[in-house]
Amino acid sequence: MGSPGAGKGTLAANLRTLNAEHVSSGDLFRREMKRNTPVGIAIRKTMKRGELVPDHLTLGLMRKWFWGRKSARGFILDGFPRTRIQAVCFDEWMETRGEVLTACVLLELSESETVKRLSQRRICPKDGTVYHLAHNPPRCEGRCDSCGSTLVQREDDIEEVIRRRYAIYERLTRPLADHYANLGLLSVFSAEIPQEELTARIFETFNLAPVPR
Ligand code: ADP
Repeated sequence: MGSPGAGKGTLAANLRTLNAEHVSSGDLFRREMKRNTPVGIAIRKTMKRGELVPDHLTLGLMRKWFWGRKSARGFILDGFPRTRIQAVCFDEWMETRGEVLTACVLLELSESETVKRLSQRRICPKDGTVYHLAHNPPRCEGRCDSCGSTLVQREDDIEEVIRRRYAIYERLTRPLADHYANLGLLSVFSAEIPQEELTARIFETFNLAPVPR
């Protein structure tokens, strides 16, 4: 869990050496949008406004992803659950599957830092590389370093929408931290520390080690 732009996706990518199955609800939605299905079109409207995709659609897509999927090394869920209803359903799924949640990581970032990060974020639509105009600019303006594609700004990365996403996070998602704290599963980290250090701290906190493939 984490506020928008806290680096959930980057952290999940940095944990790939654990060989766990990674799923990002935001990525599932963006994939659905590209396919232009009726569900994809509905999702696009909601995401563009910076609002959460309705629970029934989120739960439908996530359930479809989970169904029948097994992973000896477990799962990393990035951006799900984000509402009370999603958390309750997820607890039920785990019970049905005979699996348990082992940790909930919350990445925290202030609103002003979130706006700074996201309004200057640019993304390569082809290979997904993420740039920041001030801190990590591409070598050649507007072009991806690795594939040369024209970089784009996510539709929901404009200031007004970022602020709405942050407010929704505080109202609907942040309170879930209590649910996981009560279960003794919550660990909170500042998302202001450099990514490599954050990844190292996560490995240390949970006593993790890379898994040979
Ligand atoms: P961020 O966390 O930076 O907002 P994500 O890629 O995780 O980026 O999510 C992008 C958007 O996708 C969210 O603003 C929201 O509209 C939608 N979304 C992602 N996960 C969920 C979820 N679990 N429930 C509802 N909407 C979601």
